[in-house]
Amino acid sequence: MSAASRAAPAAAAAAAAAEQPLAALRGVGTALAAALAQRGLERVQDLWFHLPLRYEDRTRITAIAELLPGQRAQVEGTVSAVERGFRFRPQLRVALDDDSGATLLLRFIHFSRSQAEQFAPGQRLRCYGEVRHGAHGPEIVHPQYRRIDAGAAPALDERLTPVYPAAEAIGPRRLAGAVARALDRLPDDAELELIPAALRAPLRLIPLRAALLEVHRPPADADLDALRAGTHPAQRRLAFEELLAHHIGLRRLRQRVRAQPAPVLTGDGALCAAFERGLSFALTAAQRRVNAEIARDLAAPMPMLRLVQGDVGSGKTVVAAQAALVAVAAGHQVALMAPTELLAEQHLLNFRAWLEPLGVEVVWLAGKVQGRARQTALARVAAGAAVVVGTHALMQEGVRFARLGLAIIDEQHRFGVHQRLALSEKGRSDGRVPHQLVLTATPIPRTLAMTACADLDVSVIDELPPGRSPVRTVAIADRRRAEVIGRIREACAAGRQAYWVCTLIEENEQLAAQAAEVAFAELSAALPGLAVALVHGRMKTAEKQAVMQAFKAGTIALLVATTVIEVGVDVPDASLMVVENAERLGLAQLHQLRGRVGRGSAASSCVLLYRTPLSALARERLAVLRATNDGFRIAEKDLQLRGPGEVLGTRQTGDMAFRVADLLRDADLLPAVRHVADVLLADQPAVADRLQARWVGGTARFAQA
Ligand code: ADP
Ligand code: MG
Repeated sequence: MSAASRAAPAAAAAAAAAEQPLAALRGVGTALAAALAQRGLERVQDLWFHLPLRYEDRTRITAIAELLPGQRAQVEGTVSAVERGFRFRPQLRVALDDDSGATLLLRFIHFSRSQAEQFAPGQRLRCYGEVRHGAHGPEIVHPQYRRIDAGAAPALDERLTPVYPAAEAIGPRRLAGAVARALDRLPDDAELELIPAALRAPLRLIPLRAALLEVHRPPADADLDALRAGTHPAQRRLAFEELLAHHIGLRRLRQRVRAQPAPVLTGDGALCAAFERGLSFALTAAQRRVNAEIARDLAAPMPMLRLVQGDVGSGKTVVAAQAALVAVAAGHQVALMAPTELLAEQHLLNFRAWLEPLGVEVVWLAGKVQGRARQTALARVAAGAAVVVGTHALMQEGVRFARLGLAIIDEQHRFGVHQRLALSEKGRSDGRVPHQLVLTATPIPRTLAMTACADLDVSVIDELPPGRSPVRTVAIADRRRAEVIGRIREACAAGRQAYWVCTLIEENEQLAAQAAEVAFAELSAALPGLAVALVHGRMKTAEKQAVMQAFKAGTIALLVATTVIEVGVDVPDASLMVVENAERLGLAQLHQLRGRVGRGSAASSCVLLYRTPLSALARERLAVLRATNDGFRIAEKDLQLRGPGEVLGTRQTGDMAFRVADLLRDADLLPAVRHVADVLLADQPAVADRLQARWVGGTARFAQA
């Protein structure tokens, strides 16, 4: 009998234990099982992989004299005084002394009368909580506590106490209890391991069973610092598997899409050639290379899944337009979807200017297009209009394409995998699905791209058009505002155009619009005789367009704007930008904003106005921007400073929510993850499925995609 067939029954048994419903566990009734299912915890193995968020150390008692602020600690002592505030400050304050000679104050802001009566001088207590630095020494607010009998203190815990991610309507103890009972059914390694030994060995991963027991039941001498930092070998073992499962999920998604037929898009190239002749510039070598990569994909009978990365201003729009023309020449429709109305409008203006002279129809479909205009647009799309530009409105009910051949999605960060697939699904006709081209406005660091975009092929436009001069960036404190306004006056008098960008942390259009209105009034008053205009997200589409066109035409000297201009806005002659409250923005956003200048041949500058005092993080961000204009370097730095969830944007975060893994911390694992995924997908697809099911769990995010 071969080793493989001998292993089969054991694997089947493990699968059985793993797949059992939670109600099969002792102490898990239907109500608890239903509550757990709400959290996507349905099978026994879901609890094995429901990992603690943090640990509490109740294996030791800390002397009160040695407590440090910020520390979570367990103390034991005798109540020496109790004080109860009345009426306006009904606080309960309990003083606890121990042999170290120091006193700890326990403070209760909410308490019941019976609780207050539990504390009497002389009572011994054991409590646990986070130590703070109070007015009279260390204190713990709302400690967990138990009364103990003098001379008969209960034994200390032998293990660290895991604290699990809170689940609604389930107390922490019940959750911990359910996990403990699930762990009792953990099979041995031969049954549990899915990654073949030959692949595991060179990576020196510790066995899975040991890793799970270590993180769920860390012994008293476990390296708590490593566990807290997420660098413990047990966590690395689990992180590897989680990244692997995630990667397999995206690759499977890719396989599923690629298994469907797509229209073969080839033309005689006449349309593209005419387009190129009409441009006032020559394409860069990088643009040409990427165009060729796209054309090759479009000519194949399976859907393209390609991401085009390029720094701000590298000329992604032209590349998108050429891809569109290939599809149009082949008799198919193109949809271009952008995350914001303003960005979509910019694309509309560009595409109309470029394509309509070539006889290619461009239809506009955004949320704001309503009534008769909408009916007309929908009818045109259904009748086969060549190009449709819009926002997520393109995915709404009622939008029917005649023969969508290519979906272009700008600014991938704000659209998740699912929205991309939804658009693709919408375009299905004759059993064929459209090709997908994704553009990112912000470069994604390589390690992150490898994971987050594992379902996409990547093309990089790694060259800026010639003749651009780098933007000179300075950071200036807001108290020197008058000086900065003076600079604008001089620059505009010399014929330059400038942006003044107002920022807010919250993405509240109304507040942002107000802030911009205030700045607009201030600047108009300070700069008499200068053509100052305002643009923000709450203006009507037509008004916005009129302002942007006037700015582009040069009749407006200073444009006061909210961060609506962050992506895509393209006015080559503008060469000065002032960003207010720059300390509030992230690196990627600042880089995007700054990318609006430095597009023409004039030397450009960017002034980052900040309010003092600056946090260390803000100081570092401003320093990075002063030091470099390179979007890829800025993206790497951004990843270090903020973490991957934020770098990828809110939409993507849901897809990227890991339990143990951290893309930044565990980035070194990614090449091996990719290798193991390659081998499993090729040789052991059933194992790949089980890995994915194990980690993706009841929520089955990718399966639903
Ligand atoms: P992004 O990559 O940021 O989307 P755009 O496509 O908006 O960049 O291009 C930025 C500006 O550069 C636009 O004004 C565009 O017309 C111009 N441009 C694009 N390609 C070239 C090129 N090869 N040479 C000169 N200018 C170019
Ligand atoms: Mg762009």
